[in-house]
Amino acid sequence: MEMLIVKQTEYGAGKGVYASEIVRDGADLFIFSEQVVSWAKATHRAIQTGKNCWLEPAKESYGHYLNHSCSPTCGFQLPNKIVALREIKAGEEITIDYSTIVHTSKWEMECCCPSLQCRKLVRSFPKMPAEFQEKYKEFNSWEKR
Ligand SMILES: [Zn+2]
Repeated sequence: MEMLIVKQTEYGAGKGVYASEIVRDGADLFIFSEQVVSWAKATHRAIQTGKNCWLEPAKESYGHYLNHSCSPTCGFQLPNKIVALREIKAGEEITIDYSTIVHTSKWEMECCCPSLQCRKLVRSFPKMPAEFQEKYKEFNSWEKR
């Protein structure tokens, strides 16, 4: 999709996906992946859709470069789409909240994203407070919910 570009982030997260033009609220941005793999084959870039089901993005795809933010511009929508959670300006990064896409309870990730609301420690969806789960219920990657 020509409205997106991949470039280096300015906060040490490697490359990221950015909007190159304005994106309207609710717009479909891209298909994250169509490849389902088991936990053993999933990388840290995968999205968990079931107990042992992970969507693994193709190398060099937008999904491969999709970073986490504690204040994401986008969300994941089943079965495999990335959609805008609000209007996104040209130059803003396309991000999702990894707490919406991992359901393995013990998983956690240290975070130093540029968000003013950075949680510092990002936890799995089941470990998140009820208000977070409610806010992101449409963007929860778990298929059987
Ligand atoms: Zn953060």
